[in-house]
Amino acid sequence: MPSPTATTILLSADRIRQRIEGMAAQIEQDYAHVDHLHLVCVLKGGVMFLTDLVRTMTRPLTLDFIALSSYGQSTSSSGEVKLLKDLDTPISGRDVIIIEDIVDTGLTLMYLQDILRARTPRSLRTACLLSKPSRRTVDVKVEYIGFEIEDRFVVGYGLDFDQRFRNLPYIAALDEVP
Ligand code: 5GP
Repeated sequence: MPSPTATTILLSADRIRQRIEGMAAQIEQDYAHVDHLHLVCVLKGGVMFLTDLVRTMTRPLTLDFIALSSYGQSTSSSGEVKLLKDLDTPISGRDVIIIEDIVDTGLTLMYLQDILRARTPRSLRTACLLSKPSRRTVDVKVEYIGFEIEDRFVVGYGLDFDQRFRNLPYIAALDEVP
């Protein structure tokens, strides 16, 4: 059984770091009037993005985590989303930013934004490290996007294939071994 490899580097660790610093500065500027920011990270893929993002931010903020169903071993979306782990704390009245690894069809984010909006946060925005605009099937709003990429399955920097490759410090395309 051939094993896939992640050899084509699309975004180097340096490029990712620089872009995330820029995103953090933008968010700090946009929320300068807000006392307290609450970041909701989507497990597990968003973890590296979250930790690098908040390390360059100096303003008061808190973190929480939520887990949604993923593709399992498949590289395409089934369109079905399930809540696997809920938040630890209520978000009512808070200024919330969702921190997500990638927006593809947009179905996952649409689902997440709907359930979080129903909990009446004071404001709700979304930050995604990556976006594949050509794959979008729903019109979901993402205020902060790190990089727009073409339609290839990517791994690394938190993103997995079958739970592997999350530890790569860069983003790479997954190549099938013939
Ligand atoms: P969507 O619901 O927007 O189609 O997909 C969102 C989720 O699918 C992401 O949170 C991520 O878990 C997964 N996903 C989408 N595209 C990719 C990809 O290229 N690589 C990896 N590893 N996961 C992806």
